[in-house]
Amino acid sequence: MDRITIQNLEIFANHGVFPEETKLGQKFLVDAELMVDTRAAGLQDDLDKSVHYGLVSQEMTRFMKENTFRLIEAAAEQMAEHLLLTFPLIRGLMLEIKKPWAPVGLPLETVSVRIERRWHKAYVAFGSNMGDRKAHIESGIQVLSEEKRIRLGKISDMIVTEPYGGVEQEDFLNGCLELETLLTPMELLAVLQKAEQKEKRERLVHWGPRTLDLDLLFYDDEILEEPELAVPHPEIQKRRFVLEPLAQIAPYKVHPLLKKRVTELLSELED
Ligand code: AMP
Repeated sequence: MDRITIQNLEIFANHGVFPEETKLGQKFLVDAELMVDTRAAGLQDDLDKSVHYGLVSQEMTRFMKENTFRLIEAAAEQMAEHLLLTFPLIRGLMLEIKKPWAPVGLPLETVSVRIERRWHKAYVAFGSNMGDRKAHIESGIQVLSEEKRIRLGKISDMIVTEPYGGVEQEDFLNGCLELETLLTPMELLAVLQKAEQKEKRERLVHWGPRTLDLDLLFYDDEILEEPELAVPHPEIQKRRFVLEPLAQIAPYKVHPLLKKRVTELLSELED
């Protein structure tokens, strides 16, 4: 991806752990590297197709001056998020906040914090087989849409599927959705679980009936094996009720471990 850079933007602001720092203020220098696709702006010589570095500089200055953080880690984290939410064409960024007057009492040039943050693409499977199934799913999707760090993308049709796992129960409604997020995989899982809880999902029987089930299928091409979170979801390739709706919204997505497209996994599935 192309980069637009801003170097050593000087901002006088009031961040710091010591009371003198928040009272008197000090100089900060900010570097930003904005990941922007500049191809269209370059070919058409059109600023509307790019990100205005003047406006970004103004926004960074305003943000640094209007807020007071103890840590430059916090200033960087929150400013990165603010910029990613404010300027839709910024796909990701590197931000470095330097403190040339840091009260260390030693002859250093600057101290700084440098972070990289960006939008990530994820796929989520949803299912319900209790009560008003469609309403449970819609309410779950509503919870996701209320989180500002999540932007919903394509949503598949809801398909009716027979239950899986040998427990006598109602048919399921299943589907998948695509989203972009600033959340980490664990943070996203927490939002999915919050949405499940809102629908008072009760896990009385393993594989049993559920008001709402939300599974994280893919998060970019990341491979995670935390005790609470396996990504890609380990069952994707075995589940028609996941692959069918997923093939509607992301037929050419390649499974990062199996190295096969969703359509291929679906056609290889045995009945
Ligand atoms: P279930 O809702 O029955 O699919 O299982 C939920 C449990 O699976 C939770 O405790 C999660 O921590 C864990 N889990 C592991 N990987 C995933 C994933 N990719 N998506 C959702 N839950 C996961």
